[in-house]
Amino acid sequence: MMNTFLQHIWQRYPLVIEPCEEHESGEKMVFEAPENNAIIALIAPLSECLYHCGISHNEEYDSDVWLLPVADCLRHIDALTVINSATRTLLMKVRHWQKNSVTLLRLNVAHRYYTFETEQQIWGHESNAVSEPLRKRARELTRDCCDLCGYSHPEHTLRFRDGNPENDTDNNLGVCCAVCLFSTRLNRLSANDGVMVYLPTMAPEDVSHLLRTLALARREGNERQKKDAASILNWLISHREETEAYWGTSHPGEFGQALLSASPELRETLQQRLRHVALIVNPELLLNHSNQSGPPLDAWPQLSQHFLCHD
Ligand SMILES: [Zn+2]
Repeated sequence: MMNTFLQHIWQRYPLVIEPCEEHESGEKMVFEAPENNAIIALIAPLSECLYHCGISHNEEYDSDVWLLPVADCLRHIDALTVINSATRTLLMKVRHWQKNSVTLLRLNVAHRYYTFETEQQIWGHESNAVSEPLRKRARELTRDCCDLCGYSHPEHTLRFRDGNPENDTDNNLGVCCAVCLFSTRLNRLSANDGVMVYLPTMAPEDVSHLLRTLALARREGNERQKKDAASILNWLISHREETEAYWGTSHPGEFGQALLSASPELRETLQQRLRHVALIVNPELLLNHSNQSGPPLDAWPQLSQHFLCHD
C-alpha cells in the first residue's frame, strides 16, 4: 500500500483534503506545491491506514482518491515533535471537522502516469549487459512480478526504475516483462516494432496481457484461434487513426524522441497526456520469447468474443 501511495503521486498539482461526510460537503483544504509535498510527507507513514477508492478525472489530470480515518490522522500528528505551518493548518481544520462528527477524510492526489519511458545510452552500461547478481536481487524484491503489468515470470528483464544503471539501491531495482519492455525503450523503437494507438478504455497492464495472449494464440493456437487473434490485432491497430489525427504520428520512436528531448516538466505533462495511448507491439517480435505465455488458450473463446464484439 505504501508503495502504491507514494509511487503514483504527482506533486505538481494540488492535494485536496475534504471530509467524507455529507453534512460537511463543500468544506475542503487545498494544498498547492510546495505545501502539498509537506503534507504528503506527513501522511506517507500512514499509508497502512489509507484506503484507495478509485481515480477521479478532470480536464487537466487524474487524481487518486484515498480515504483516511480522522482518528489515525490526528494520532499521528499529535505524536510529532516538530510541526510546520502546513501541518498546523491541517491539524486545526481536522480537529474542527472531528468536532463536527467527521470520521473520514478524502484525499485527492494527482496521479502520475509513466506508462512510457525512454532509454539513454550511458557509456559503460550497454543495455544488453545484464548484471546477474542485480537481476537476482531484483527478482527477489519483486517476486518476479513485472513492474508495469504485474505479470509474474522468472525470465523478466532487470529494470532500473529511475533509468540510471549506476543506482543499484533496492528501491531502484525492478523487473520488466517482454511486452512492457518495449514501452520502456520507446525512443529506440522503429515503425516496425509497434504502433501507438488511442485506447482510453484499456489500462496499459490489460493491453500487455492481451498482447501476450495474442502472441500465444498466433504461435500455438488452432486455425480458428489464429484467425480471431488477427481480427483482435486489427481492431487494436485500427485505433492508430485517432493517435495520428491528434499527434500527427503513430510511430513509437517519434513519441520516444519527444519524451527524451522534453524538459523534465514538459516530459511529465506529456506522460500525463499519453495516459490513454497504448503501444501495440508487433506480435512477430514476441513470438520467440519463451516468457510471453499468457492466459491459457482455453480462456480464448470468452476473450475473443469480448474483443470481436467491438468490430
Ligand atoms: Zn509487463
